[in-house]
Amino acid sequence: MSLTKSRAVHLITRPEGMPTAENFSIVESDLPEPNDGEVLVQNLYMSVDPYMRGRMREGKSYAEPYKLGVPMYGGAIGKVVESKDDSLAVGDIVTNQRAWSDNFVAAANTVVKLVPYDMDKLSSYLGTLGMPGLTAYVGLLKLTEPQAGETVFVSAASGAVGATVCQIAKIKGCRVVGSVGSDEKANWLTQQCGVDAVINYKTCGDLAAALAEAAPEGIDIYFENVGGDHLQAAIDCFNAHGRIAACGMIQTYNDASPAPGPNNLMQIVGKKLRIQGFIVSDHFDMMPQFRTDMTQWIQQGKLQTRETVVEGLDNAVEAFLGLFSGKNFGKMIVKLS
Ligand code: NDP
Repeated sequence: MSLTKSRAVHLITRPEGMPTAENFSIVESDLPEPNDGEVLVQNLYMSVDPYMRGRMREGKSYAEPYKLGVPMYGGAIGKVVESKDDSLAVGDIVTNQRAWSDNFVAAANTVVKLVPYDMDKLSSYLGTLGMPGLTAYVGLLKLTEPQAGETVFVSAASGAVGATVCQIAKIKGCRVVGSVGSDEKANWLTQQCGVDAVINYKTCGDLAAALAEAAPEGIDIYFENVGGDHLQAAIDCFNAHGRIAACGMIQTYNDASPAPGPNNLMQIVGKKLRIQGFIVSDHFDMMPQFRTDMTQWIQQGKLQTRETVVEGLDNAVEAFLGLFSGKNFGKMIVKLS
């Protein structure tokens, strides 16, 4: 097959508050012939992730801002269509950082050959077996060291990171309480994933009271994905020596100015809580162990994976925006070809 064109999504203006379709544009260009040491890759799946919202801002953060008027980037899975490098052959599957583009030419050493455990599950390497799954694994196991019998509270519990945290915590013998934005998500977690109790934060009324009811003996670990009222409720419900893995605070990502914080932070002192922020890219050394454990748990039926798949690059922006209103159930994936 010969591919001659590439289509890519560019950020053209920086969003204020919630992004809209007008902040983005799809640009078509001619693909160059690969030179020696290069490959031509056709992307099959790309990931949209909440952290990409941070890249759309100007200024310093832990992730470089996207430049305006050039292709955005992020995690993707593709197939080698042409190779001018001995390390890769036509048909090889590769992970790459060229999400938001359908086809691209790049140095062979900027993509990583993947030997999938199942060719029908390629997209899982962007979710449960990829960056979000590693985030769950590292954040829970390395940073909070859960012990059997402890209670773990997880916000955004049916998402790519959250659902994996819930299920690893169950495998480790913990009691798990999740928080989600729909009854359908809550039912999946309790009925398919073995989660002990799930709160629908949109309908529960007082979140702190709902958490106290769902975790009558208190919580020992909070896996923080949301921020704001979820953090406030978790602090109220903590037992002494509790641990917080501060993974993300999606509730705040589209705020034009900082929202007020929790007003109960003094409890951190009396309850001797430990809050540990982390960025998954500092822990890529754990990838081999993570993939071994996760593949085994999936094959043993101990860990369910779930995805929402949106078709086509033209719908990638909509898929990304959907993350902020819970349109995804499990990992949000864009299928490119
Ligand atoms: P998800 O798959 O969980 O998608 C986001 C989910 O968040 C939505 O489906 C929605 O679920 C929930 N949500 C969105 N807005 C709100 C809101 N205002 N209040 C409450 N819930 C909301 O995304 P990921 O699993 O990829 O990411 C989860 C978190 O982990 C994010 O905060 C992300 O930034 C963070 N992260 C951090 C990393 C790190 O290295 N520290 C790496 C990867 C992710 P619902 O329907 O339940 O509301």
